[in-house]
Amino acid sequence: MTSFPTHSLSFEFFPTTSEAGERGLWHALREVEAISPSFVSVTYGAGGSSRDDTVELCRRIVAETTLRPVAHLTAVAHSVTELRHIVGQYADAGVRDILALRGDPPGNPGGPWERHPDGVTHAHELVTLIKELGDFSVSVAAFPERHPRSADWDSDIRHLVAKCRAGADRAITQMFFHVDDYLRLRDRVAAAGCDTPIIPQIMPAVDVRQISRFAQLSNAVFPEDLARRLEDARDDRDASHSIGVEYATGMAARLLAEGAPGLHYVTLNRASAPLAIHRNLNLPAPAPAEGHAAALVVTP
Ligand code: FAD
Repeated sequence: MTSFPTHSLSFEFFPTTSEAGERGLWHALREVEAISPSFVSVTYGAGGSSRDDTVELCRRIVAETTLRPVAHLTAVAHSVTELRHIVGQYADAGVRDILALRGDPPGNPGGPWERHPDGVTHAHELVTLIKELGDFSVSVAAFPERHPRSADWDSDIRHLVAKCRAGADRAITQMFFHVDDYLRLRDRVAAAGCDTPIIPQIMPAVDVRQISRFAQLSNAVFPEDLARRLEDARDDRDASHSIGVEYATGMAARLLAEGAPGLHYVTLNRASAPLAIHRNLNLPAPAPAEGHAAALVVTP
């Protein structure tokens, strides 16, 4: 099993098929490659809609860059046979790290969950499946504001711990905007006797028009003060960018000071805001590589 450094720096990208989208994506990948992150993750379109594109993008990242791709995989709408096949495709593409997710019902993320008749019901089963299939490192999802389908905190934490005990090497959180939510989640997991690292995901909010999209994606409570400042700067891109970067820099600095094991940035395929935050944090130079990707060791 490959492992990430104790403190990691990573970026999330999504596959895209348009020519302009591809250009932007590869520009952003090259920008983050220059600072040798621990890994980049590649999303898996809702319900498996981007399956081939995710495999293909990971294949190109392995072949054409020094970056280490973590491929997302959702179980929804797949039989176990299909899941095995996709894991095989990832392995064939040179991917050794997978983010194992249950996924949401296609077309209606909040709708009733229906297990594929020959599939799995929860992410911990996918973790077990992937670990059985080969020498993969596996990440799972964690939710600082609780998964929207969880009835209460106790069950939410119990199920996250079950994913870790099934063999997950780390958890990566949903986006959030209040550091205390992350710290509470981390402390609850620790109190349950689980020491799996939980990497916080940072979403720089640089445009007021993104806020409703964030709510759709994550249920995260957006800070009123930040929303007001972004609204006031609605038509000023530079000012909006600075406001979002400043807020996220504050979050990232506090997370590191509180001992977070790394930072995982949502990029939306644009690296400028995450890289501005990274520069603001003035972190030490990347440490020597472990595996085929260089690692960044962060001393808060
Ligand atoms: P699970 O861990 O199975 O949890 C789902 C719900 O079931 C939770 O309420 C949990 O408490 C409960 N539960 C778990 N186990 C049990 C059990 N044994 N018995 C009873 N209840 C249980 N979606 C995509 O479509 N593509 C992506 O690329 C993608 N990337 C993501 C990346 C990150 C970092 C995160 C945080 C989320 C991502 N998602 C993605 C969204 C994710 O698929 C959804 O949030 C999904 O609803 C939950 O997936 P999960 O793996 O956490 O599911």
